[in-house]
Amino acid sequence: MSQTPRIRGGIGADGPYWDALERGVFQLPRCAGCGAWMWPAHYRCGDCGSWDMEWVPLDPIGTLYTWTRMHQAPVLVRERIEDVPYVTLLAEIPAAGGKRVVGALHGSEDGLAIGVPIRGVFLPPSPKTKGYATLGWEIVR
Ligand SMILES: [Zn+2]
Repeated sequence: MSQTPRIRGGIGADGPYWDALERGVFQLPRCAGCGAWMWPAHYRCGDCGSWDMEWVPLDPIGTLYTWTRMHQAPVLVRERIEDVPYVTLLAEIPAAGGKRVVGALHGSEDGLAIGVPIRGVFLPPSPKTKGYATLGWEIVR
């Protein structure tokens, strides 16, 4: 199976997020002016107007804010069709002011429930992720 080439430099303010995942680093942006966490990433702080962002490395540890089971592969991600059904989720990151990151469940569904502790697992680029390194989220037992 051929690897889908990743789009570099054209994905906007969240580019450093994806670049860091390739190096095995989970990081989110924080405003250098007022300290507000920004996720989804923005070029400018909506709180103070600063254009200065700092990317802060974090442990990929959080809680399961919510989840849903995918029964069809999204139109733009047909490569995931062999994984259906699978669980997508929002990981709430306490160390980043409670910002929530979208991801997919990695591993067993045992214990799947809102509020359970979860941790990110660094996954290499693949055709299923359009060539991007990603975090899969597993339930902490
Ligand atoms: Zn700010």
